[in-house]
Amino acid sequence: MQEYITKAIVLNVRKRGEQDKEISFFSERLGKLRAVLVSGHKITSKFSPHCDVLDYVTLRAVYKNRHTVTDIIAEKKYAPTFSPITMRRVFLLAHFLDKNLPDEAPDDDLWRKIIHDFERGDILFSEYLSHLGYGGTHATCAGCGTQSLWAFSFAGQEFLCKTCSSNVPENALLLL
Ligand SMILES: [Zn+2]
Repeated sequence: MQEYITKAIVLNVRKRGEQDKEISFFSERLGKLRAVLVSGHKITSKFSPHCDVLDYVTLRAVYKNRHTVTDIIAEKKYAPTFSPITMRRVFLLAHFLDKNLPDEAPDDDLWRKIIHDFERGDILFSEYLSHLGYGGTHATCAGCGTQSLWAFSFAGQEFLCKTCSSNVPENALLLL
């Protein structure tokens, strides 16, 4: 059983069975990881309020077959600091990172960028896409081939124009 401590941003929170939650973090030391928050115990239930999407936390966890949260200290709640429009973008970014980042691959540049952008309240999806290898400079719409791109579909992993992206659910798109 190996215990570790790291700063982390909460990317997603899901229910896991009747009692538990599974939380996706992007952490400074380990990159993206999913850890179980066992909520059946009295001692852990106090952590739940510190586990909303976009929270900046200090995470203490143990690894044995899976990551299990042992303590969470709230550092900062970013969600209330964003304007409604930025909020929507940042939620989509968190969803995108949760779906697309490799597990347990630390990325110092990405960590610093996220904290920097969250502090400024300004998110440019195209920068994150190119950081993750989806350069949009020479891309064309996967639907019709036009070069005027509007969005990136992370279900299809492809760039789309405004017309073609109207067929894709909004929560599966990053607007460029
Ligand atoms: Zn198109």
